[in-house]
This record gives sequence, structure tokens and C-alpha cells, in this order.
Amino acid sequence: MAITGIEIFKLLPKTNCGECGVPTCLAFAMSLAAGKTELAKCPYLSPEAKNKLEEASTPPIRPVVIGKGEYAKKIGGDTVMFRHEKRFENAPAIALLISDDMEESDIDGRIERFNTLVYERVGQTLHGEMVAVKCQSGNANKYKALINKVVQKCKASIMLTSNNADMLEAGLSVCTAARPLIHALTKENFDRIASLVKEHSCPVVVKDDSIDAIIELTGRLEQSGIKDIVIDTGAIDMQKALENQVAIRRAAINQKMRSLGYPTLVMANEMSGDLMKEALIAATFVAKYTGIIVLSDFSGETLFPLLVLRMNLFSDPQRPLATAENIYEIGSPDENSPVLLTCNFSLTYFIISGEIESSRVPSFLLVKDTEGLSVMTAWAAGKFGADIIASFVKKCGIADRIKHRKLIIPGYIAIESGMLEDELPDWEIMVGPREGAHIPAYLKTWN
Ligand code: SF4
Repeated sequence: MAITGIEIFKLLPKTNCGECGVPTCLAFAMSLAAGKTELAKCPYLSPEAKNKLEEASTPPIRPVVIGKGEYAKKIGGDTVMFRHEKRFENAPAIALLISDDMEESDIDGRIERFNTLVYERVGQTLHGEMVAVKCQSGNANKYKALINKVVQKCKASIMLTSNNADMLEAGLSVCTAARPLIHALTKENFDRIASLVKEHSCPVVVKDDSIDAIIELTGRLEQSGIKDIVIDTGAIDMQKALENQVAIRRAAINQKMRSLGYPTLVMANEMSGDLMKEALIAATFVAKYTGIIVLSDFSGETLFPLLVLRMNLFSDPQRPLATAENIYEIGSPDENSPVLLTCNFSLTYFIISGEIESSRVPSFLLVKDTEGLSVMTAWAAGKFGADIIASFVKKCGIADRIKHRKLIIPGYIAIESGMLEDELPDWEIMVGPREGAHIPAYLKTWN
């Protein structure tokens, strides 16, 4: 945001009512300037202040929401060139292409893969978000039938793609409520598609192989009040497409060119006939700087690594992934089950809980809040010492759920065992393995 906290404060009502979630207008102004809250949280802004602040607070890459309700996918919103400068904001949508010239069995297979290729990873659910429904047949009824099927069966936001404006209009007529992304508006169909998009309040893709032409098209759309725009340079040569992504991002972020400040789209499905190569191409565009990546098909071995890469790049580098402090039951533990302790760094939690699960020994896992730090880092930072652990064990209520008094601590903090015995005199402190992989063997004979 280019505007400072004090400049924002001058435009606020200054009543300190607290309805925005912070106690004062000044605190809200500072949070807004830091990008930690949203303008909409203050309900008392004058229309003039709202307009001024909205314009000033819009990120250099405008955020665009595609779809509605539970399937809405937000893309764009970025403010930096590189993740380490702050963070990347909204992860790109991974889209699956389904075309109306495909065999019915092929379409059904894609819909099934879209709905079932869903993964849990460090507490997050990973999956594709969008289906690009393409009209290849030139038959409006066939296209509409496919769109209806996809809308009914896919848990997805929808993109309608065709180079025929008649087909796009026909397609839109059966899925207006889903607020689909229209692909694409060009120089040739500008008036017709722009009026369709305006009438139905849908986001639209502007497509041209010339960046100068895209600047002109987005400028015209903005003048007519259409701001939910995605850019497609149409490049299907990987080097050219990558150059375009970087050029657009640089122009929007470094040169503050509003007319290129929109998320982009890449048709990775047109860049290779090989699914594995396509996934590698898509991985490049996850990193640089695409808002929507269309794939020709989903398969577990290509989609999963792509989703994990995306999750890693779009996590906040200033905030470690953390699990909530709690007593976690693994299996169905009873009063005689072992009690293990670990930190709340998500990766540690999922490794340890996975190893306990594979041991088939029902257990309690105590997860102490270490601000997302791993065992050794938390210990070195003084957040996982004997006094802190003892206080947590006493307060968490585990003693009411077990008959024994044995606590298994991570092998890496064995040095704390003596002090823990002093802090928890009723407990026997057992030093567990240093490596998670050794937990199953350890639990077989823990008692
Ligand atoms: S809701 Fe608005 S008026 Fe109330 S404290 Fe927050 S910023 Fe100030």
C-alpha cells in the first residue's frame, strides 16, 4: 500500500468504536497500512474516504475472485516480486481442462479425478480449484450440456473458454449463478464480451499476444467500470510465456502500471503433450507469477507435487506452519496408553503423529505451543525447556486421562529430562528416539 498509516487515520471517523476488531481508529489505520486488515471492517467510512482508501489500498496486482460461495477462488493481490520481500498472497488456481468434443467416459473420468485427487498435508487440504470448460464442437447445446454437468458434479469454480463469442454467450446463459471466468475478450469481440461481462458481473480474461494491445484492452475495460480482469498473452512457447509473466509482474510492481496490474493465465495444457512435462512447465508458472494454470488432465503423480510446491511457495515466510496446542488422540488411547510430547511445528507434528499411527499403538500426543518452532530451535530459543513443559503438562489435563505417570519426551531434548523430573516429581520422564522414524519400534516396547 502506498498510503501511510497516518494518512489513512486522517480519513477515518476517529470515534474509536472498536467494531473493526481493534480498539482505536489509529490501530486500525496502522493495521491497514501494514496489510493486516481489510478496509471493509470499518462500517463507518464516508463514501469519499472509502473511494480514496480503496484506490490507495488496492495491491499492484489486483485481487480477482472467480466463482461464488464455497467454490470461489481468489487470485492475484500480490505486492512483491520475490517471496522473501514479504510473501506471495493468493496461490494460483490449478485448472483442469474439459472439452465438449471429449468422449463421455473421458469427461466422467476427469470429473472424478478432479473431485477425488484431494490431499491432506501439514494440516492443509490441497486440490485443484477450477475447471476450464472448453467449447470445441461449435455446438451450443452440446456446450451447455457439458457446462451443466460440470457445474452439478465438480466442486470447482468455472472458466468458460472458446474463441467463439456465440458459444461464450450460450455457455454463460446456463451458469451465470456460478460467476464463471470468461475466456476470452479480444480486440475483435470487445464490445460484445464487455457488455456480457458487465451485465452478468463476471470476471473476464483479456487475450492478445501483444502486451501493448493488452494495455489498451484493460484500459478500455477499466473505463467502462470492469475491473475483475485476468491477462492471457496467449503464448504457448514456454520461454515466451515466462518472459511475459515476468514483464507483466515487473511493470505492475516496479513501474506501477495499473493497466497490467492483474493476475495472469497460462494454458500449460497447450505447451506439451506429455503430462509429466506439463507438470514441470506448470511448476515454473506457479513460481513465476501466474494466477491460473490450466492442465490437460489430473493425475496423482503430477498433481500432488505441484500442489505441495504451490503450498510451500505461498506460505508466509515470516510465519512457521503451526498446529494448535492440544492433547491429540492417535488410535483410541485409554488410561494405560503412552503419552508422548512434541512441539507445534506442523511438519514435526505430522511426522510424529504419522509414525505413532503406523506403530498401531494407541497413544496420546501432547503438542506444546512453541510458536511453530521445531524441537531443537524451540529448545535453543528457551521455548521448550523443563519449566515450560512441566507447566503445560500440569495444565493440559493429561493426568486425568491416564493411570500411569510416564512422559516420553523427544530424544533431542534428553538434556531436559533431569530438570523435568524435578519439575514433575510424580512423573517418570522417558527419553524417546531422536528420529521420528524410530518411534514405531520404540512404542512396541515402551512399557
Ligand atoms: S470501526 Fe472504524 S470508526 Fe470504529 S474504531 Fe474501527 S476504524 Fe474507527
